[in-house]
Amino acid sequence: MVLKWKEEVNGIVKQLRPELQELSEYIYDHPELGHEELKSSKAHVELLKKHGFEVEYPYLGISTAFKAVYKGEKAGPTLAYLSEYDALPGIGHGCGHNILGATDTGAGIVLSKLVDEVGGTVIVLGTPAEETNGDKVTMADADTFDDVDVAFCTHPSDKNHASGKSMAMEAIEFRFYGMTAHAAATPFEGKNALDACINFFNGVSTLRQQLRPTARVHGVIKEGGEAANIIPDYTRAEFYVRAMDMPYLNELREKVIRCAEAGALAADCEMEWGHYEASYKNLITNETLSTLYNENMHSLGIAMVTEPRESMGSMDMGNVSQVVPAINPYFEITNGKAVSGHTTEFRECTLTEEAYRAMEKTISGLTLTAINLITDDSILKQVKAEFEQRFK
Ligand SMILES: [Zn+2]
Ligand SMILES: [Zn+2]
Repeated sequence: MVLKWKEEVNGIVKQLRPELQELSEYIYDHPELGHEELKSSKAHVELLKKHGFEVEYPYLGISTAFKAVYKGEKAGPTLAYLSEYDALPGIGHGCGHNILGATDTGAGIVLSKLVDEVGGTVIVLGTPAEETNGDKVTMADADTFDDVDVAFCTHPSDKNHASGKSMAMEAIEFRFYGMTAHAAATPFEGKNALDACINFFNGVSTLRQQLRPTARVHGVIKEGGEAANIIPDYTRAEFYVRAMDMPYLNELREKVIRCAEAGALAADCEMEWGHYEASYKNLITNETLSTLYNENMHSLGIAMVTEPRESMGSMDMGNVSQVVPAINPYFEITNGKAVSGHTTEFRECTLTEEAYRAMEKTISGLTLTAINLITDDSILKQVKAEFEQRFK
């Protein structure tokens, strides 16, 4: 039974590979920043339409987002694959979202060739702007996942890493308001908004030593005054505040805000704060689902690293993982070399034969995992029970 599916899936993946390779290379050649991914999203949509998906594009009023659906002839669960295709400024696809998009969209297409037989519905979501204002947040807040049973997103990396954790994050800006004055002649008539801002930074520095070791608070001054001989009446700092879970993030946010209030108070200024980018929740890996995927990858000859990743950022997949059972594993495209993401070296790895072979195996693993869930109701029940348990 399992062997039959493996051979069938691998066969479909092989057939589809030239089209996916073309998609990845087209996107590599046309790097577009978040919310400007018009060519990249269109290329995905055209391929999905060609393979019989019904596509809503734009989706949720976002011009570079899409929702592609293929409904099988028989009833069954709904599985969603999430594609990204935004690039980075200056270095193009240094995060490898060109091959990410081809892989996740590819898995959706391969599964669509089988759901008429096994049942179920496949959804491929085009999720813009992962690097900045990730629209998985918009989708998790909307009704996108209401009818979805399980969601997958896989990311290229220099290791085959099992789905782990990511940090919850809030992007907060702090604005300080003072009063201008001649800095030499009448400084006593001014209120120094830059001093308020610097007080704030110093406050955060003292706070930092009492934070949990995994917490991160880091910021820059984006507007710091106009001229040295004018007491600045306005300054603005942008911060990221990160924690491993939402309760601690909520606590941390309040502490950081109090540092800003204290900074303003000491300099006799006013302070306002607000969000300047979307906030990301922490990723909660569904371990039942993750184990199933890892076993499928193992059966394809890929050993998944299950120790936690050393470097951790924040991702919009976190928000998805808190509304639907989800995994976000990594696949190795660097031919055994250690290569960090967000580099030109990593970008070049996406074009290699090793990367395409990794893409093929990842698509097979994702598809086989979906088939397990569709054909064995008890596994899906277990996945859902774990999800319910986490949010009790
Ligand atoms: Zn990325
Ligand atoms: Zn990235």
